[in-house]
This record gives sequence, C-alpha cells and structure tokens, in this order.
Amino acid sequence: MRGVVMYRPGDVRVEDRDDPKIVDPTDAIIRLTATCICGSDLWPYRGAEAADHQVMGHEYVGVVEEIGSDVKTLKVGDFVVGSFVISDNTCEICLVGYQSRCVHGSFVSRDIGTQSDKARIPYADGTLVATPGQPDPELIPSLLAASDVLGTGWFAAVAAEVGPGKTVAVVGDGAVGLMGVLAAKQLGAERIIAMSRHADRQELARYYGATDIVEERGDEGVAKIKELTDGLGAHSVIEAVGTQQSMMQAVRATRPGGHIGYVGVSHDVGLPGDELFFSLVHLHGGPAPVRRFLPDLIQLIWDRKIDPGRVFDLTLPLEEAAEGYKAMDERRAIKVLLTV
Ligand SMILES: [Zn+2]
Repeated sequence: MRGVVMYRPGDVRVEDRDDPKIVDPTDAIIRLTATCICGSDLWPYRGAEAADHQVMGHEYVGVVEEIGSDVKTLKVGDFVVGSFVISDNTCEICLVGYQSRCVHGSFVSRDIGTQSDKARIPYADGTLVATPGQPDPELIPSLLAASDVLGTGWFAAVAAEVGPGKTVAVVGDGAVGLMGVLAAKQLGAERIIAMSRHADRQELARYYGATDIVEERGDEGVAKIKELTDGLGAHSVIEAVGTQQSMMQAVRATRPGGHIGYVGVSHDVGLPGDELFFSLVHLHGGPAPVRRFLPDLIQLIWDRKIDPGRVFDLTLPLEEAAEGYKAMDERRAIKVLLTV
C-alpha cells in the first residue's frame, strides 16, 4: 500500500509500505476513503519539530476491512470515523471524557500514519465510531473534519464554556479556529468574534457564524476585543494557534472569571505567573478528546445540521501529498483533503 513519509522537514514523499495486519484481537484494519493534512503537520514540515522518516497523518475516514476477534461494535463493511488518538474508551480517564489521555492511548500521527491506503487501528471499539449507514459522497469531507479539526474546535468551545448569551473570541483562523466558530454558534453564543486578517478565512468564519471580525493581532487585537465588550473582554476565548503571542492574546482578551479553551499545540509558550494570577481566568485545553464528541458530531453531519467540510479548500490525490503540504505551508490552502 502507499503511505506518506516525511523524510526530513520540507521533504514529503509517498512510498510503498507493507499492508497492515491484525496484531491484537481488539484491532481493526480500515481501508481509507479520505484523509487530510493537518495544521499540526506543518510544525515538522517547517522544522519546528523533528522529522526523520516519520509516517504522517492522523485524520481519517474509511471502511472496515477486517476486525480482530474481540471487536464488538464494528463489522466488516462499516463506514467509520476515528479519533486522532487511540483510546480504549473504558478506562477511568476515558469514562470521564478525556479519551485523548487514555491509559492505553497513543497518537495516530506517531505510530500509524493515516495519510495512506490502509491503517491498523488498535482498540477499534474505543477509537472508531460507525456512521448510521454508507455516507453520500458529499458528506465525506464533513465526516473527515470530525476526525480532528471539528472535534478539536468543539472541545475548545466546550472548554471555554461557550453558551447562550456569551461573547466568544476565537484566536486563530486556521481550520480549528473556524471549527471553533462553528461550535460556538451551535452552542448558542450570542456574539462570535473571529480574529483573522485573511479575506477568504474571514468569509468562511462569517459563514460558520462569526458576527464580528478583528484583524488586529497581539495587544492591538486585545484592545479591539475590549472595545467590543464594554472594556471587559470576552466571556469565552478559543485559542487555536499555540504560540506565545496567541496564548497571551487569549489570556488578555478574556474577562475576569471568563474561560479559555486552548487547543493550538503549544510551542515554547511560557505564561507569566503574575499576570495569570491577577487575570482570574479559567484555563482548560490540550489534545482534544475527539472520541467524546464523535457520536454527536456524526449525527449533526448526518442530519445535515452542520457543514464542517467546507474547511477543505483543496482536494488532491494521495500521490500529490507533497503539493498539499506546500500549498498549506504557503497558505494557498486552509486545509487539504487527500483522496485515497
Ligand atoms: Zn481509556
């Protein structure tokens, strides 16, 4: 089968590798229908994380081709959406909704790499969720979005305690930030401020429910948020970047007593203790427990109540993965879908 390998930063290749086989009785083998490139794949691509012949990809939808003898909730032929973290969904951590830190957890990006034709998914019952039937082709991008960016944006909104009557600010206009806007709208936010300076992303943010756009960044962006909220700051802030500047922008744009949901993978972020102390904000975030939200998100997509698939603005065959990375790196694309 084919699979994407990052030889070193900036060097992405599609190579042949062995077909996966059932190893443990809780495994499933899936044949991928579609996969995609994540904003987090750009960190190693740009050299901000190590990359040495690393298999790539952690977002995936596909059809179950084979199951181990202990798999109970799935059968061969099911169409499935999986989380980007493997989870048993039965341990104490999973049972309270934090499947992304399952005691048997592992990252799909590190060990499996789903920018490929097939994948072996351990703990299939706890990681994969079957759709109600075979999806119409136009639903596939949205189901694929549920695998990470939608689930992550949703978790960020939940972590930021988004709800009716609240003002939400979203730091980051990548796919996750845009999904945070969608989630905020679904969760009943009254006002949604998207921070973006790119016209195409502003337009998509408005499509998903943003009521205001702030183009300024850093402290100027914070001043603008304060201006829009009677000097108080937002009730809820979604941080979907992961840099020092974006994190401080989130902390300073949140009103005392407000909540921050941070899901941008943290890179060299250090929070000044004194500022944090006096800010009186709640901080919650990390790798999103997508598995917690998958059943509900799949249903919303199935019922055509949400349309997260619009974040994919470039579709390429898996063979052309290298061009997909380049397009995202150069910001020519928000998010690239790879057909398998
Ligand atoms: Zn678990």
